[in-house]
Amino acid sequence: MLKEILPNLFFFDGRGAGSNVFLLAGKKIVLIDSSAESNAVQLKSAIEKAGFGCGQIALILHTHGHADHFGCDFLFPNAKILMNKFDAKFVNSRNLEFTAASMIPTKSFPQINSFFRKNKIINLGSFRLELLFTPGHTKGSICFFDEKQGLLFSGDTLFNCGFGRFDLPSGNASELHSSIQKILELKFNLLLPGHGQILQGSQKNNILNALEAIACFG
Ligand SMILES: [Zn+2]
Repeated sequence: MLKEILPNLFFFDGRGAGSNVFLLAGKKIVLIDSSAESNAVQLKSAIEKAGFGCGQIALILHTHGHADHFGCDFLFPNAKILMNKFDAKFVNSRNLEFTAASMIPTKSFPQINSFFRKNKIINLGSFRLELLFTPGHTKGSICFFDEKQGLLFSGDTLFNCGFGRFDLPSGNASELHSSIQKILELKFNLLLPGHGQILQGSQKNNILNALEAIACFG
């Protein structure tokens, strides 16, 4: 099921097996991540039940290059797919260790030819997404920040009660700490993470708890 959490912003709950997916119906229909391949049937039917078609998806913005976030890209034949270049080169070469596809059954890998550039804004009309380069979970991890609407799509950098692991290839605890410190400076009231539940309201305690926990590893 796609849940409309704000006008034109829909949420697919990845339920542990795969990442959450967010659908933004702005000037274009855009997805943030596409979840694991094992969620393909549920994701397709959820999108169709909400009145969209898979062929309508024009853009997929990836938070990073793990298979539980890109496994359903194959459902969207017309979508341009974007990712940070660092992670994308491992996805394009089907690197099972980097993409964690050795742990997450994945047959299809997207070919990514478009990469995020620093300081670029993705303007979708009703959404205006600023790119934040937030290494730590992977070197190429990205968050998307909509200042006007107070939204942060945080991928696996920050969760509601926690943060992404940093022990996978290119992960780094002190980089993750710096990235979350950057997030602490942002004003937003809706955290839309790659896994788990959305966090609405004050974000400060959640961020401070994450920083404190990572500091133990740094
Ligand atoms: Zn991940």
